[in-house]
Amino acid sequence: MNCNIAVIKGDGIGPEVVTQAMKVLDAVGEKFGHTFNYEQLLMGGCSIDACGVPLTDEAVARAKASDAVLLGSIGGNTSTSPWYKLPPEKRPEAGLLKIRKELGLFANLRPANLYEQLKGACPLKEEIADRGFDMMIMRELTGGLYFGARETKEVDGVMTAVDTLTYNENEIRRIAIKGFDIAMKRRKKVTSVDKANVLDSSRLWRKIVEEVAKNYPEVTYEHMLVDNCAMQLVKDPAQFDVVLTENMFGDILSDEASMITGSIGMLASASLNETKFGMYEPSGGSAPDIAGQDKANPIATILSAAMMLRYTFDLDKEADAIENAVKQVLVDGFRTCDIVSEGTTLVGCNEMGDKIVERI
Ligand code: NAD
Repeated sequence: MNCNIAVIKGDGIGPEVVTQAMKVLDAVGEKFGHTFNYEQLLMGGCSIDACGVPLTDEAVARAKASDAVLLGSIGGNTSTSPWYKLPPEKRPEAGLLKIRKELGLFANLRPANLYEQLKGACPLKEEIADRGFDMMIMRELTGGLYFGARETKEVDGVMTAVDTLTYNENEIRRIAIKGFDIAMKRRKKVTSVDKANVLDSSRLWRKIVEEVAKNYPEVTYEHMLVDNCAMQLVKDPAQFDVVLTENMFGDILSDEASMITGSIGMLASASLNETKFGMYEPSGGSAPDIAGQDKANPIATILSAAMMLRYTFDLDKEADAIENAVKQVLVDGFRTCDIVSEGTTLVGCNEMGDKIVERI
């Protein structure tokens, strides 16, 4: 297969971790007979320095013409970097918002799984951590409360703020279809999370999810109220496979889910549109405190590349090869400084990339 990937290394640790992911992709290409063509684009602070804006229209057009985008991270130290003296619409983060909007990325996927070897970092009780977990939080990204009309005004002499939560059936259907499609590639279970005992938008959500579920007879599905889901995530996370939910609930639950893994440098993410196109990036930021020191953990970015193979290119066994190589590296005791513990071997970002390549 010939895969055209737009690569945005970005700022901070972005270039270091993306370079490792490209190394791993090339190893996969060699082993399985695929060609990965990379086109490097600028976004974030590096684009401000080179082009005066965080993302040029030209870069957007090139990203759109690719099959998928592999992103590192953007931004710098928000207290000291000159980028943060610019008005908000010219800062690095504006590039990220623009590319998400331009590419129509409405589905956000964040896996949260606990590696056997990193159980010690899990903040949950030992007997819960021992059962392990492996879930995918699927969050609607472009609708709901964060995109509804809002205003603050005085009503009868009292300051009053209004935010509007709107979903139409089409927005719900397309994310539900994505959720069930992803479940078909996993353990075939969907937990749809809403607040249908209170909200109209949640009752519509539930109705549409039920309609979509009829087309996926192999997938078991259930509805769960969001307050219960927040509790279940810390009580019994092993019960979840795909957690399908709207924007604000997903924002909160995905952070809760990533917290219980205990290791941000390990967490991948993907944002998808209606086609197979997606943008793949680590969950963490540009880590300016460790940038340029060969200290960053590249695993989140390498696992994001594995998600790209699975969800954009349908290369499941190639994605498995990356995920297994990551597991093997942990079994063999290699750790970057964010996950190092007694009895393990400290390696830098580059060496971690090499160790994973060796195991592909
Ligand atoms: P951060 O995620 O960059 O860093 C938080 C902490 O986690 C730091 O101590 C950092 O060293 C550590 N860390 C993060 N990723 C790591 C990795 N791969 N390996 C080892 N340690 C890692 O969050 P922050 O400090 O709040 O933000 C720094 C910059 O990143 C800001 O400019 C912010 O706007 C930006 N940011 C960008 C994105 C993105 O590009 N999608 C996301 C979040 C934050």
